[in-house]
Amino acid sequence: MNERNTLIVRCGEVALKGLNKPYFEKMLVDRIKKVLKEFENVEVKRLEGLIFVRADKSLDIDKIIGIISKVFGVASISPAVESESDMDRIGETAVAFMLELIERKGVKTFKVDAKRADKNFPVKSPDIARQIGAKVLIGCKVLSVDVHNPDALLFVDVRKDKTYIFEQKVSGFGGLPLGTNGKGLVLLSGGIDSPVAAWMMAKRGMLIEAMHFHSYPYTSERAQEKVADLAKIIAGYTGNFRMHSINLLPIQEAIVEHCPEEETTILVRRFMMRIAEKVAIERNCMMLITGENLGQVASQTAEALVVTDAVVKMPVMRPLIAMDKVDIMDKAREIGTFETSIKPYEDCCTVFLPKHPATKPRLERILDSESKLDAEGLIEKVMLTKEVINIYEK
Ligand code: ATP
Ligand code: MG
Repeated sequence: MNERNTLIVRCGEVALKGLNKPYFEKMLVDRIKKVLKEFENVEVKRLEGLIFVRADKSLDIDKIIGIISKVFGVASISPAVESESDMDRIGETAVAFMLELIERKGVKTFKVDAKRADKNFPVKSPDIARQIGAKVLIGCKVLSVDVHNPDALLFVDVRKDKTYIFEQKVSGFGGLPLGTNGKGLVLLSGGIDSPVAAWMMAKRGMLIEAMHFHSYPYTSERAQEKVADLAKIIAGYTGNFRMHSINLLPIQEAIVEHCPEEETTILVRRFMMRIAEKVAIERNCMMLITGENLGQVASQTAEALVVTDAVVKMPVMRPLIAMDKVDIMDKAREIGTFETSIKPYEDCCTVFLPKHPATKPRLERILDSESKLDAEGLIEKVMLTKEVINIYEK
């Protein structure tokens, strides 16, 4: 059989792009090369709408598949064997492939599905399937054909230069390659929602940076480490990014001192947005991203979101807005952030939480309360506490 392991990587939505398709494909190939750069002897090439990854047999192919499956833009991956595009060679390769599957997975029944991408190939697709199926039956005595519910569905993809034979399809997340859709600043708390929001925007090709607010010493250093841990998990998908961290405590204290208690949360949120917008502009981010979700808590009612939005000019992306909490939690489990998110460290939002937060804040009232504060002065003051933490994907 082949000296190298071959992976067929399918591009999903990238394949639907029109004139921009070469650009998206190149971005995807570059990203795959980057995540695999720790391995020597790996080749990544695109051909006819697919990406082929060839890795030396000595390398851990399951690990490589796992890494590629986290790359946004990848729809699925199949470990494949290659053959010359000649019926005898294809037959031999298919037999060897199936013998290995029998040994590894105890396969007893099979079916062949064939596709002829090269229309000049002399045998038509249904005949390829039939003839290769017959060869496999002769070569693998323990196998029988089951067209309805086979243990193994063997795909034969005949192309001009080569034929690829594969069985398994490992799903990727789909989406678009990183870096094809600008950069956004995600307001990252230690909770369940905002890491999922960051992941969802990055899945559509957006690069991210993160903004975290703490209330040290009311919030502990351990709480900040938790956010960094979450950021690191996200970076496994988004690549390295910067996390900006600011102490919001002076603003929270001023609000508690001068404004009505029930407005505390919404006022704090408006300050968060103002500061985030400033940082976003400095860092060339074109959007803010939050994990807000309609109706989840008092500060996320329709009225509260309108009042929050009114303070910034920059668009605010809320990818979780219409999801149910159970679905957000499932997503968090799937992407690997859930266990860290539920660790019990306090968030700055829980410091000074009002007993009865306003659920239908009115903008005039909020503006009136804010007029009692020196907003610009407070923002300047907390900006001086800004630290930058570099988050690395590995
Ligand atoms: P999460 O699970 O992400 O913490 P949540 O359900 O707890 O969200 P809130 O605490 O009201 O909701 O926060 C709403 C959104 O505001 C968060 O998803 C996040 O984008 C942002 N946010 C909240 N707290 C912080 C913080 N300490 N630093 C940065 N952003 C924050
Ligand atoms: Mg929170």
